[in-house]
Amino acid sequence: MFKRVLIANRGEIAVRIFRALRELDIEPVVVYSQADAEALHVQLAEHAYCIGPARSADSYLNVEAILTVAQATGCDAIHPGYGFLSENPDFADACLQAGMAFIGPSGDVIRAMGNKAAARRLMISAGVPVVPGSDGALDNVQQARAVAEGIGYPVLIKASAGGGGRGMRRVFAPEQLETLFEEARSEALACFGNGELYMEKLVLNPRHIEFQIMADRQGNVIHLGDRDCSIQRRNQKMLEESPSKALSPQLRERMGAAAVAAARAAGYENAGTIEFVLDQEGNFYFIEMNTRIQVEHPVTEMVTGLDLVREQIRVAAGLPLSVRQEEVCLRGHAIECRINAEDPRRAFRPSPGTVEFLHLPGGYGVRVDTALYTGYDLPPYYDSLMAKLIVCAPTRLEAIRRMRRCLEELVIHGPVHNGDLLHQILYHPDFVRGNYDTGFLAAHMDTLLAWCGEEEEQA
Ligand code: ADP
Ligand code: ADP
Ligand code: MG
Repeated sequence: MFKRVLIANRGEIAVRIFRALRELDIEPVVVYSQADAEALHVQLAEHAYCIGPARSADSYLNVEAILTVAQATGCDAIHPGYGFLSENPDFADACLQAGMAFIGPSGDVIRAMGNKAAARRLMISAGVPVVPGSDGALDNVQQARAVAEGIGYPVLIKASAGGGGRGMRRVFAPEQLETLFEEARSEALACFGNGELYMEKLVLNPRHIEFQIMADRQGNVIHLGDRDCSIQRRNQKMLEESPSKALSPQLRERMGAAAVAAARAAGYENAGTIEFVLDQEGNFYFIEMNTRIQVEHPVTEMVTGLDLVREQIRVAAGLPLSVRQEEVCLRGHAIECRINAEDPRRAFRPSPGTVEFLHLPGGYGVRVDTALYTGYDLPPYYDSLMAKLIVCAPTRLEAIRRMRRCLEELVIHGPVHNGDLLHQILYHPDFVRGNYDTGFLAAHMDTLLAWCGEEEEQA
């Protein structure tokens, strides 16, 4: 097993990884930017090194500085978390060249899945259903037009290097195509430094269903059930649950098998997620593979009882998975709410600032993953995720009730956040029935905000 591991991340996921390392008796080494000197992961760690200015490009994306710290402190592995360098194949390769394990899949696998247009091709060859769309990348708008005519409108233009819901445009009619194609290209260039685009048919009112995968070096590939991530704002997840109410046991079995086949076809090792959209007729289609630990991994941990970050570390150290597929047992129901420092009334505008007062919920069946504390000054440079509230209970309805009371207990003075909005979602009859898709939030936003308002007036 490793002796020292560098955590190349910040925020709640850095704390999450720190905890897993300590429990394995591994010494964590953390890095931080000048804006993060007071951050929780820095305060927890005995070994903490500043790697540059606030801007991610100068610190958390600074490969040379990170590898220098890892080598100077004698680390034998690096955990990249999510975001930042986690899906950068050159970083994974560079870790190995520097004599350290990268806690994730190989650079080649990250490269293959990181180009979403190319990943579609691989999935087709593995017999995994993909959304009808372009065969690889689109060179120009003429080609886009031809593909759109072939598959029929509406279509979705997507960035090959995409992530975080960016570089995507829905096109409902031919006359919109050129403008939206150019918009997607410039957004992709600005966000990912890569303007390559591809096209998929726009699946109407789909659910986002994903499967957690774990694979070891011994060739074991298992799935750990599904997560329903259909509560989204601007193609970004806000609430996740497991298991999905939309899947029958038979459909879950088929999708799980497809996810395992997808991971096998990719030659996968470590933790990964296969994302699908599920249409209203019960057809599912691969959309992408995320080659890292996911923000919403705790819901899977709650229903499987498996510590996924611990598994990641063990697998990277060459140990086999600690469970076989037939030993995986999904019990009860788990829900996660992402508490973001964003103002839902102002188009989810980021709202960083000082946390004047903080009270976190607790009690039976509750877990909070966060790096917040009272007095913490939330920097404006990074992701707006402040905390993840995770609950589990024997049934979905009990989990919903537990999450409602957690959101009632949560107090954050300072940054504006989406806690009230989440609370109202958990009371919406369609949500409670499990009758929702990726369009839910946009469709009900006005109603939900009005309900939030009434609550404020009463208070
Ligand atoms: P999920 O939420 O399913 O784990 P996301 O695609 O929303 O996956 O991304 C997870 C995290 O990584 C988010 O914090 C997001 O802001 C960040 N992220 C995603 N893609 C990129 C990217 N290309 N560059 C930088 N950060 C990214
Ligand atoms: P990202 O890399 O940004 O996470 P994804 O390909 O995973 O991009 O898509 C993000 C979200 O966009 C999905 O969760 C889903 O809500 C929506 N989406 C993606 N592809 C389609 C599609 N073909 N039809 C309908 N919705 C889609
Ligand atoms: Mg995605």
